[in-house]
Amino acid sequence: MAWLTPAARAEAAAKVARMTAKVGYPAAWRDYGALEIRRADALGNRDRARRHEWLRLAALSGKPVDRQAWAMSPLEPNAFYDPMLNQINLPAGILPAPFFDAKADDAANYGGIGTLIAHEISHAFDSNGAQFDSRGVQRDWWSAADHAAFDALTTQVVARFDAIEVLPGARVNGKFTLPENMADLMGLQLAWRAWRSLPETGQASGGAERFFPAYAQQWAAKRRDERTRQLLASDPHAPPSLRANFPAMQLDGFHETFGTREGDAMFVPAQDRLRVW
Ligand SMILES: [Zn+2]
Repeated sequence: MAWLTPAARAEAAAKVARMTAKVGYPAAWRDYGALEIRRADALGNRDRARRHEWLRLAALSGKPVDRQAWAMSPLEPNAFYDPMLNQINLPAGILPAPFFDAKADDAANYGGIGTLIAHEISHAFDSNGAQFDSRGVQRDWWSAADHAAFDALTTQVVARFDAIEVLPGARVNGKFTLPENMADLMGLQLAWRAWRSLPETGQASGGAERFFPAYAQQWAAKRRDERTRQLLASDPHAPPSLRANFPAMQLDGFHETFGTREGDAMFVPAQDRLRVW
């Protein structure tokens, strides 16, 4: 992280060292034995399910934090970073292809689940992550110089996204989507470095052509324009096509792999590429 001064860098290293992961499913399943489900009573089932969940949450009050408890359902095809536990969460729902495939080569898995894991790790070091230290305590562990350097970098990121017109008259809100855009940029750059550091496959140029399509496949989506406009105003993530293309366009390795040249749709001159690590 180019913006961190030595003291903050030491805390960042501690944050990585202390980071843990929840993968797949919880060690102890939630007990739904007390929840009564009746046939042909959808509304009643909904009410009882809500009450059951409320009672579960209320019972946690005043007790020590259970660090093993899961906030997500293992079925969810999603992932998140929890700053207070300094923990990434990868439920079983996000582990099948195209994110991860045990039979695929390293390039595809680093481009898929690797970039997603790196995205979640990156949230520990964005503007939200700056508010929580390596033990999950809410305190600003960045100096004024760290914030200033981060602001200088993110001002460029905000401006680049603000300039993107997704549909006629509808633009990305660069400031609103900044933490997610930073995590996307950091995630791809970090996963790329991790893959390149593999002694065998990472050095071979042949696999790079599979790394980037695996990354892009995560963002396959189909939406009506109306939905896209709605999400531009309410979703802290950029539209999927931008999440696929924009981070790749900032990466030297992408341009080297595909030999992009001026005039190509995804070409960005080397001096204009946003480098975050
Ligand atoms: Zn995110």
